[in-house]
Amino acid sequence: MNVVILLGAPGSGKGTLAAELARVPGIRHLSSGDLLRGAVKQGTPAGLQAKAYMDAGNLVPDALIAQMVEEVLDADPATHVLLLDGFPRTLPQADLLGDLLARKGVHLRGALLLEVPDDVLVARIAGRRVCPACGATFNLATLPPKRDGLCDACGAPLAIRKDDDPATVRHRLDVYARETFPLIDYYRRRGLLHAVDASGHDLEPKIEAALRKIHD
Ligand code: AMP
Repeated sequence: MNVVILLGAPGSGKGTLAAELARVPGIRHLSSGDLLRGAVKQGTPAGLQAKAYMDAGNLVPDALIAQMVEEVLDADPATHVLLLDGFPRTLPQADLLGDLLARKGVHLRGALLLEVPDDVLVARIAGRRVCPACGATFNLATLPPKRDGLCDACGAPLAIRKDDDPATVRHRLDVYARETFPLIDYYRRRGLLHAVDASGHDLEPKIEAALRKIHD
């Protein structure tokens, strides 16, 4: 298995991009946010512990999310490329991931950074809508649903994520700047960072080129 880390602020498009890439057989998208939201929804012990942190836009404890990611890695040895989206998010998590991959003999191929200016991030998040029933995501500006307010995939009414309200979004961007931004330097110093300008719409060719570089 090879691991590629996706780095970028909330709203940078990591999740949408990874969902696209994961349509290729052998590529799997693991979003730590989705993993946690699933645990909250199911009411697992990890989910119960995580909920209050998530609702406030704060990070859950490093060890909690690292343990959950390890369980996914163990359960899915057949994956060829694992796209990690949202983990690691702090320097201690980057160290935990390094240890974990070394223990499992898994290769870290690189970290792909999606760069987007703050004002674009805020506008994107304001337009984000999610389907509480099937998890599909939409954006009123860039990927609107075909029928107003309804999910294209299953027809359920769309919702705004609890942590996407403007005050919580500002807080999440602060948390990103403080906790996650240092990871850019962490991976750059290790020769693993590949940055892509993700402020526009036509991302695919840029991403493909970056992923080819990561793979070579
Ligand atoms: P996301 O969907 O990636 O924006 O994550 C939503 C929320 O889940 C974050 O605001 C955090 O509360 C929590 N979360 C996701 N990934 C992590 C992580 N690697 N470490 C700590 N908290 C996380």
